[in-house]
Amino acid sequence: ATPTAVMVATGVGANNGVLIKGGDALERAQMVKYVIFDKTGTLTQGKASFTTAKVFTGMDRGEFLKLVASAEASSEHPLAKAIVAYARHFHFFDESSATTGIKDDTNELKSGWLYDVSDFLALPGRGVRCFIDGKRILVGNRKLMEESGIDIPTEVENFVVELEENAKTGILVAYDDELTGVIGVADPLKREASVVIEGLKKMGVRPVMVTGDNWRTAQAVAQEVGIQDVRAEVLPAGKADVVGSFQKDGSIVAMVGDGINDSPALAAADVGIAIGAGTDIAIEAADYVLMRNNLEDVITAIDLSRTTFSRIR
Ligand code: ADP
Ligand code: MG
Repeated sequence: ATPTAVMVATGVGANNGVLIKGGDALERAQMVKYVIFDKTGTLTQGKASFTTAKVFTGMDRGEFLKLVASAEASSEHPLAKAIVAYARHFHFFDESSATTGIKDDTNELKSGWLYDVSDFLALPGRGVRCFIDGKRILVGNRKLMEESGIDIPTEVENFVVELEENAKTGILVAYDDELTGVIGVADPLKREASVVIEGLKKMGVRPVMVTGDNWRTAQAVAQEVGIQDVRAEVLPAGKADVVGSFQKDGSIVAMVGDGINDSPALAAADVGIAIGAGTDIAIEAADYVLMRNNLEDVITAIDLSRTTFSRIR
């Protein structure tokens, strides 16, 4: 393609909210064989539409939620935000308003009602850990509990499995080294996700899903969206390795992601595509930025490249 064609394509992209960082990225997109999608916040909306909380000890429900929210308040993770929002409504209003998420995006009720925490630690791909009044609180997945020496009673495990089979994520909570309860978070697919996956397949491009979430939830979500190839329980550092494994035979690989977690994979991919609503680090690492936050623009990006480069040859 001529420099003019590249310029025109870049302009067409920009008009559609597809920012392309350079002609090389534009050229590579036409040859993409695999598109690897991050799950949370990329295929899904990245926010909870419904939250359930189940306490397995004698602890009061409000107290349980307050402890969990205090621990999660310093986390940037979409799951953490969902939990804090839910607990906040539970605290100030009632359970039904917490469930429906009325007035949800307000920050007005942010502070003042939570416990002070110390030694907060975010553990990527696992959860968070901190101390409240000298007692350790852990909020996260099985891996976090295993690594911290917390037993998961059968009753709790069964409840989590049930959540996962319904495409929800079960978040485990241990307080003072006892498995206290579980929070179930549902993260619905983006409206256009299934159509985009179908579209890619028709274009001869193979969709893949990669996630730090557990296998059962990952499979349930993948099935819903129409993706057969799934890599689950991948730690943040491992996402770039997944990209590498698809590149091994010389295939051109695109990665679509939104989070800090995704930036090494976005950089490793031949075509890194960041969701515009994602974190700055992801946007920096990517070759493409989708400003409309619409997955249809993954197809727009590939189409644009194909049109620009095939006409000239
Ligand atoms: P994804 O790859 O789907 O974006 P992450 O790698 O961010 O997922 O997280 C993987 C898993 O780690 C989550 O599904 C959750 O179980 C756990 N996790 C991570 N951060 C948190 C947190 N702040 N609170 C609770 N659980 C968390
Ligand atoms: Mg994500």
